[in-house]
Amino acid sequence: MIISDALTVRKTHNFLMKSQYWPREDIERYQNLKLRALIKNSYENVPYYHDMFRRLDLKPDDIKTKEDLHKLPIMTKDDLRQNLDKMLARNLRSRAMPSQTGGSTGEPLKFYVQREMWAWANGARYRGWNWAHYNFRDRMVDLWGASFEIEQLEKMSTKIRHSLLRRLMLNAFKMSDEDMSQYARQIIQFKPNILRSFSGAMYVFAKYVSDNNIKGIEPQAIITTAENLYDFQRKKIEDTFGCRVYDGYGSRETSLIAHECEHLQGYHISDENSIVEFLKDGEPVSPGESGNIIITDLHNQVMPWLRYSIGDMGTPKMEKCGCGRSLSMMSSIDGRVHDFIVTPSGQRLPGEFFPHLFKDVSGIQEYRIIQKKIDKLEIDIVRTSEFTDTDIQYLLKYLREYLGDDIDIDVKYPDKIDWPESGKRRYTISEVA
Ligand SMILES: [Zn+2]
Repeated sequence: MIISDALTVRKTHNFLMKSQYWPREDIERYQNLKLRALIKNSYENVPYYHDMFRRLDLKPDDIKTKEDLHKLPIMTKDDLRQNLDKMLARNLRSRAMPSQTGGSTGEPLKFYVQREMWAWANGARYRGWNWAHYNFRDRMVDLWGASFEIEQLEKMSTKIRHSLLRRLMLNAFKMSDEDMSQYARQIIQFKPNILRSFSGAMYVFAKYVSDNNIKGIEPQAIITTAENLYDFQRKKIEDTFGCRVYDGYGSRETSLIAHECEHLQGYHISDENSIVEFLKDGEPVSPGESGNIIITDLHNQVMPWLRYSIGDMGTPKMEKCGCGRSLSMMSSIDGRVHDFIVTPSGQRLPGEFFPHLFKDVSGIQEYRIIQKKIDKLEIDIVRTSEFTDTDIQYLLKYLREYLGDDIDIDVKYPDKIDWPESGKRRYTISEVA
């Protein structure tokens, strides 16, 4: 299985390495070709879309190019959650792989993807890493989220894969001073070409390394992802490790959406994998203006994502990049702001911890974590009827394991969460200075 998967990824990666330099018209022609196939299958085999097309008096021929997409409504996470069964393509059920996300917006979601989409997603991910100077024989350290119970089964194969791929995994959910001192020693010994992490965790680690004057960590490049990377964080990381930082933007639903290239002039969008729109009040934004990111994934026929509102915001960019790639661009990803939770005993938990944990539990519609005081954490969970005692016990078990015993955890179950009007959802907030 590992070998056949690797071959499929290699194939998509080879394709993407060429298509990134195609003339712009060819990329758009390719997108429209994939879109028409997706629309046709959605209409013919996906009950949710079939009903929607009929209701809107649309036929597949009405959506021939991405300029026609505006005829379809935006799909929210709520639409998905409520219609999951009707969203599966009847003709492709055997190719459906279950997946889930804790969301970048505090809304966990279960869904299905197609094996082929997974290969395209990984091909694009490796291409993004290549832009950041990663080569397949390189040694890479991932300061990343550890697996919880449900993922433990995958652990053995992951371990083998990582040793084959020359990867060292460090747990970004354990970042006390002792943990980071240990990580620094391991990294110095492992001599990676590339370090990769959540933006916030890499910044915290860089600060620790610099404050303690630790020498000997000299990667060629650093890859960050999953949360906003601020300029001050980028500068601190680059100054500490003496190399450039390349930021990527992806999600579990669609994998890599955009990545910075070696020219660092913005993010290249994986146009071959998805059509990305930036909307404000339902209309495309002007260049330089931030809008809601709307994704139409071109390779997931099993459970089509047509105009899916992912919950993030971004700013499109019209200027071309100096690298000569013809992929469309965005200048920034806005609104993925998650605070670190720091406990009285000095444990530091990145905001990414929570979606990682919460995705394993059914019956959570939305959640928000607020650290009111150094020793008090409030968790709001909007639950559905699926949520059980076992679920809360599961969450509390891991919250305790990672947060320690010196912090009060107060779980509340409101009917809804009052998010701020700005549209930027911060699901992890620390009010502790
Ligand atoms: Zn470029």
